[in-house]
Amino acid sequence: MKVFHTVDDARGFSLSERKAGRSVVFVPTMGALHEGHLSLMRRGKELGDTLVVSIFLNPTQFAPNEDLDKYPKTFEADLDACRGEGVAAVFAPSPSEMYPRGKDEQLSWVSVEKLSGGLCGASRPGHFKGVATVVAKLFNIVLPDVAVFGEKDFQQAVIIKRMVEDLNFPVRIETAPIVREPDGLAMSSRNALLTPKNRKAATAIFRSLREAARRVADGERDAAKLTMMVEEAIGASGGTVDYVRVVDTGTLSPLDVVEGEALLAVAAKYGDVRLIDNILLGAAG
Ligand code: AMP
Repeated sequence: MKVFHTVDDARGFSLSERKAGRSVVFVPTMGALHEGHLSLMRRGKELGDTLVVSIFLNPTQFAPNEDLDKYPKTFEADLDACRGEGVAAVFAPSPSEMYPRGKDEQLSWVSVEKLSGGLCGASRPGHFKGVATVVAKLFNIVLPDVAVFGEKDFQQAVIIKRMVEDLNFPVRIETAPIVREPDGLAMSSRNALLTPKNRKAATAIFRSLREAARRVADGERDAAKLTMMVEEAIGASGGTVDYVRVVDTGTLSPLDVVEGEALLAVAAKYGDVRLIDNILLGAAG
């Protein structure tokens, strides 16, 4: 497995793979890899020839008050995990390789309007501008034919699909389902930051999402009743709700009534660890 730290090396590798007639599949990550990331890599292997993974803790998607400094870093173990999945190359640039002038001198940004304003975008202003911009940069470096994103970050996947469509990136976006711990908690690099007590309490998130999906399957259509139930369950477990919303899966606009397919999306804090999760309701729920 090759490990590249520079833009030129990573791009040179992809160019030579493409020239040799091999398609490039790309899985962008921020490291601290877990089974969720590995599932994207396994999906990626089915979708093309040469699998490239990036490990880059992108500073421009974190606000100054957020957890960039605390974010878990397990680089050597991440490389081992990538080797185990048959990754051809890891691109692990430094912040100065990605933002040579410094992030305050980055003058060009990708902003995906409307879709970035609600849910996580409302509580993390500027977050999706950082995400869309770094993904655009990574696409221009790794030159993938296909890129794989996780449905755990549902809003992110919708935003990236729209960016690719609006800006004519020659990349196909695929998504893969949420991978969970045996007790239902969505896998996240941030789970390692939870205290043992909060780790247990946080299982309330998925329990309540599943209960909401069950109620919809039983005929409940009132979004407010569902979100209230989830808010109460998370609150009772000791979590602090950031948002609980039923939204349209395409536009991410809030829905009052569950008709057809809808997404129930949650963000909540346990201690100072912010967790997100979601579940499809209705037809697919
Ligand atoms: P991150 O390293 O958190 O930026 O995530 C990198 C990619 O892995 C994103 O596309 C995430 O949606 C995806 N991902 C993270 N956690 C999970 C999970 N539990 N299941 C599936 N995909 C995930």
